[in-house]
Amino acid sequence: MNKAVFLDRDGVINRMIFNNERKEYEPPFKKEDLELYDGIIESLKKLQNNGFILFVISNQPDYAKGKASLESLAEVQDELQKIFIKNGIRFSEYYYCYHHPDGTVPEYSVKCECRKPGNYFVKKAITGYDINKDDSWLIGDRDKDVECGIKPV
Ligand SMILES: [Mg+2]
Ligand SMILES: [Zn+2]
Repeated sequence: MNKAVFLDRDGVINRMIFNNERKEYEPPFKKEDLELYDGIIESLKKLQNNGFILFVISNQPDYAKGKASLESLAEVQDELQKIFIKNGIRFSEYYYCYHHPDGTVPEYSVKCECRKPGNYFVKKAITGYDINKDDSWLIGDRDKDVECGIKPV
C-alpha cells in the first residue's frame, strides 16, 4: 500500500494575493501572481524521496462566485504544474472543487460533496491509489482542511 500527503494549495504551496479593490486575500488568478512559498520545493522533494505520493486538494470557488474565469484558474494550474515538473516533483492528481453553495454562476453554485471539509477527493485517492490512510497526512491552513483531514474515510 502507498502512503500519501494531501496538500491544500493556496496558503500552503503558494501565497494568497492581496486584492486592493476587494481588500481581501485571494488565490492567484494569473500566472504572474503565482508565488510559491520559500522551501516548498525542497519540502515536497523530501516527502517524495521518503516515499509519499502527493496530491493537491483545493477549493477553488472563485469562478462560481464570479471572481475569476475558468481559463484564468487553468492558467495558474498549468504554471504550477510546469514549476513542479521542472523541479522533478510529481503530483499524482490535482483535485479541484470549483463549486460554491452560494455562488452566482448557476451550474457551479451547488452544495457538492467535493468541497472541503467534504472528503470526497481523499476517499477517491485512497481507493484509486491504494493508499493506507494511517500512514498519510493532510496539510492545510484553514479549519476546513483540518476538518477534512480528520473525517473518517
Ligand atoms: Mg488554503
Ligand atoms: Zn465541489
